[in-house]
Amino acid sequence: VFNFSPGPATLPEAVLRQAAEEMLDWHGCGMSVMEMSHRGKEFMGIYAEAEGLLRELMGVPSNYKVLFMQGGAIGENAIVPMNLIGRNGKADYAITGDWSKKSHKEATRYGQAQVAVQGDNVSIPKQSAWKLDPAASYVHICSNETIGGVQYHWTPDTGRVPLVADMSSDILSRPIDVSKYGLIYAGAQKNIGPSGLTIVVVRDDMLGHALPITPSAFNYQVQGENDSMYNTPPTYAIYIVGLVLKHFKANGGIAAVEAHNARKAKILYDFLDASSFFRNPVAKEDRSLMNVPFKLKDETLDEAFLKGAAAGGMIQLKGHRSVGGMRASIYNAMSIEGVQALVKYMQDFERQHA
Ligand code: PLP
Repeated sequence: VFNFSPGPATLPEAVLRQAAEEMLDWHGCGMSVMEMSHRGKEFMGIYAEAEGLLRELMGVPSNYKVLFMQGGAIGENAIVPMNLIGRNGKADYAITGDWSKKSHKEATRYGQAQVAVQGDNVSIPKQSAWKLDPAASYVHICSNETIGGVQYHWTPDTGRVPLVADMSSDILSRPIDVSKYGLIYAGAQKNIGPSGLTIVVVRDDMLGHALPITPSAFNYQVQGENDSMYNTPPTYAIYIVGLVLKHFKANGGIAAVEAHNARKAKILYDFLDASSFFRNPVAKEDRSLMNVPFKLKDETLDEAFLKGAAAGGMIQLKGHRSVGGMRASIYNAMSIEGVQALVKYMQDFERQHA
């Protein structure tokens, strides 16, 4: 099938095949990766390779720690302020959709979480409209709003205040300049692996301000000093992420991933813009290359649309319950063929029902 799930999402088939082959006996050691001690030499090798690939493909400078944590991005909504808001007691949040709204709400429990800007859910407000506090501990953004389908195609300039980004739904989907961020976090389960693993990339000078209530397992400094092994990390998820990153590297790296993603998104948006039957509500310059929400002109046809799509092998297209309609998530591992098949199905459906 072509799986358009918003996450956990489709993964490269070659990676799944390799994982299946290695499932019972990893490289002749007689164990599955699931059965290895996280401190044993086999897993330490897997871990070092995954971290090295992530650093290489993302271009992570040496003054940043890469942490492999748990708790997901919703966990990070609390973990970020617990670790960072203590510097000045306040932080700015740019609200551009449901996920950044949730991040802001959770942060209010740990300090003064201010709204720098409130968007309209279908566009990213220009920076001239933002109200930034120069004394904030950090500015938080969500680089890609998975539900609304709006994505930053520029990096906010926050001056001396560190920029913090939830990149759960676009991490490693395009090259970024990590040095512009104080901290980046992301769940792995959309673009680079299975659920259970949260990636945190944090600049060294951000550490050391954790609130006393911060659990040790969620203290970035503690995790950094222990190579993410203060507690047992999600070992199998780290292994799969390593395989996925190796696969991206062998296929041209993140520049090639970006080109592939741009091509897929163009096919779908070009079709939507030409159609009078389907509609995407997002401002063109802010459209997500990852999540493409769309509505049918007549929503009484939604069920028939989903049923027909599933019969054609195109699954998990139902939009988020808060917005309705459809959503095609076309992360890194979605193929051009998948998007072409979807567009073909939409053309046929439009012809039958328009
Ligand atoms: N932030 C964004 C942008 C997301 O897309 C999601 C998941 O869909 C989350 C946060 C929540 O992630 P998790 O459920 O892994 O905590």
